[in-house]
Amino acid sequence: MQKNQYRTLSEVDPEIFAAIQNETKRQNEGLELIASENFVSESVLEAAGSVFTNKYAEGYPSKRYYGGCEFTDVVENLAIGRAKELFGAEHANVQPHSGSQANMAVYMTACGHGDTILGMDLSHGGHLTHGHPLNFSGKNFHVVPYHVRREDETIDYDEIERLAREHNPKLIVCGASAYSRIINFERIASIAHSVGALVMADIAHIAGLVAAGLHPSPVPHCDFVTTTTHKTLRGPRAGMILCREQFAKDLDRNVFPGMQGGPLVHIIAAKAVAFKEALQPEFKSYQLQTIKNAQAMAQSIGDAGFRIVSGGTDNHLFMVDVFSKGVTGKDAERALEAAHITVNKNTIPFDANPPMKASGIRIGTPAVTTRGMKEPEMAEIARLITEVLIAPEDAESRRQVITGVREITSRFPLYANRLTISDSATSAD
Ligand SMILES: *Cc1c(COP(=O)(O)O)cnc(C)c1O
Repeated sequence: MQKNQYRTLSEVDPEIFAAIQNETKRQNEGLELIASENFVSESVLEAAGSVFTNKYAEGYPSKRYYGGCEFTDVVENLAIGRAKELFGAEHANVQPHSGSQANMAVYMTACGHGDTILGMDLSHGGHLTHGHPLNFSGKNFHVVPYHVRREDETIDYDEIERLAREHNPKLIVCGASAYSRIINFERIASIAHSVGALVMADIAHIAGLVAAGLHPSPVPHCDFVTTTTHKTLRGPRAGMILCREQFAKDLDRNVFPGMQGGPLVHIIAAKAVAFKEALQPEFKSYQLQTIKNAQAMAQSIGDAGFRIVSGGTDNHLFMVDVFSKGVTGKDAERALEAAHITVNKNTIPFDANPPMKASGIRIGTPAVTTRGMKEPEMAEIARLITEVLIAPEDAESRRQVITGVREITSRFPLYANRLTISDSATSAD
């Protein structure tokens, strides 16, 4: 007999249900130190899991190609208004599905095929979409990379200026994925404008710090600002673009119909919720604690004898030159993962090892700070990390570290109400 009633996911698809339960457990019981990850609120999850996933809404508020968009318009208008308020921007497009697509839309707006772009070298902290040869950016544009200086591993602004004069780029791209120092957006923008180039700041990593006023904002200086919404900004996995009014029409057209079809309205709803959260005073305290935590952990790991790239951090992340103690980034990442501490290997500037091995690991504090951890926990975590790095193959030490990780994480429960079924989650009944 057919029962026409709601069946839970656990009944309909026990395999996917079990994977979600196991992932919830993994996030709860491990130490998440990947600098680009965070934990969203229950409200953001609720919006992302809403019925707006059903809605087609090609176009923009009040100019749609589909009927039934009255509540979609409410959602998108709120997201746009809050984004503009949060960053003091003239125009916001909240439709990009990801940070990479936000960047693509700006390149399509600012450049033609084959035009010259200046971007930060990937191995010095830049992102794939800033000109990697296998990425659309490197394939469709002529990309000239700039670097950090050997002596202090900070951005070589003089080199940017020299390259800008020499190559006359259409666009200068700044912002990074693995750079722990303040970026002087004002200086890069003035270099760009002095050679008639446009400038795009990609604040995917530091958007939360910028929103909280803890990193100088690129918005007053740069023609375009792109970001992801899921890193320090602590929203759903997606992207966003801010720009000056003069580029607004062109930019919107390049997002849709230029590069995307229907927007993900459920994700835009979740972005709106995250922006509202970011407008609250607590968000600033959270970002401040994230920075303090990164500084505390970098200090402790440095005190244990590991070289910290550029000597420290001004933001939510730092890079450890693990090869300074004879361990490759690859081995460090694997050994830490086995001890339930998640980081990623990363090349460091002027790396002597190939990218798949790498000399460094990148460590970020946004996720552990969201759980409520502070400086004392950072010191404990640093001790666990250095224990693993000093003896990556030692099984007994690993067991002790896992116990230490479990001890810390159990004091800061995460998504506890979502762990509905304990270990029986994998059984199908
Ligand atoms: C993470 C990141 C992106 C890309 O974000 P996706 O959403 O993964 O496409 C772009 N730029 C920078 C600097 C990033 O760190």
